[in-house]
Amino acid sequence: MPTCTHCETTLDAEELVRHESGDLLFVHCPSCGASMGTYREPGIGR
Ligand SMILES: [Zn+2]
Repeated sequence: MPTCTHCETTLDAEELVRHESGDLLFVHCPSCGASMGTYREPGIGR
């Protein structure tokens, strides 16, 4: 499971906040809003 490097909360992938922009998928921590990563896979959430 991913851990936020900002608030150190361990999260399930399903809990992460996802924000799509074109072909990119941005993932944010739901607790503090820090970026958890950027993905180029358009269908990664499936
Ligand atoms: Zn966080």
